[in-house]
Amino acid sequence: MRIVLLGAPGSGKGTQGRRLAAHFGVPHVSSGDLLREHVAAGTELGRQVSGYLDRGDLVPDDVVLAIVGEAVMAGVATGGYVLDGYPRTLSQAVDAHRLAVTADVAAEAVVYLDVPDAIARDRLMGRAESRSDDTAVVAERRLAVFHDLTVPLLDYYEARGILARVDGVAAADEVFDAIVAAVVPFARR
Ligand code: ADP
Repeated sequence: MRIVLLGAPGSGKGTQGRRLAAHFGVPHVSSGDLLREHVAAGTELGRQVSGYLDRGDLVPDDVVLAIVGEAVMAGVATGGYVLDGYPRTLSQAVDAHRLAVTADVAAEAVVYLDVPDAIARDRLMGRAESRSDDTAVVAERRLAVFHDLTVPLLDYYEARGILARVDGVAAADEVFDAIVAAVVPFARR
């Protein structure tokens, strides 16, 4: 199964992404996790991106594409992927689709985890002690970036006929069941 998860910061993409990946037996590929791993390990790439992460800004497209692309291709070899955090802009989506079609690894379903900003904010503040980009100022920036750059992807995927909108406010177990029910009809094999 090849799934892309879209949603505001705090929408539950990480939690649901891990569970979906386990459920479908495919890797959870989180662009944010991959970037944070580079920062934590102090790699050259990590040094290049840490400023963007700390401000809540998007890191340059070519950097994200390189690390996500590698993880996606590794996932495909094992049966698919749950992609969380990428693509995040229309240009990333167009690039990703062009490459994915060439390699025959395009997403079968895109899940939008729909959560009002007020709830996303509460959740981000709840985890602020564990992540340096969850302070109030940076969380606002990430929410603004989401509305400006990521929300337009909903129309793009809707037009491709692969978008499933799921209410992300309910308890995690309910959201999980709703996602599975929403994506299964899209599975092509
Ligand atoms: P959240 O879903 O809470 O916004 P993520 O873990 O997905 O958090 O992303 C954290 C940060 O990593 C983003 O604010 C951004 O700086 C960077 N990042 C993640 N994915 C991308 C992407 N596709 N393009 C550019 N930057 C990204």
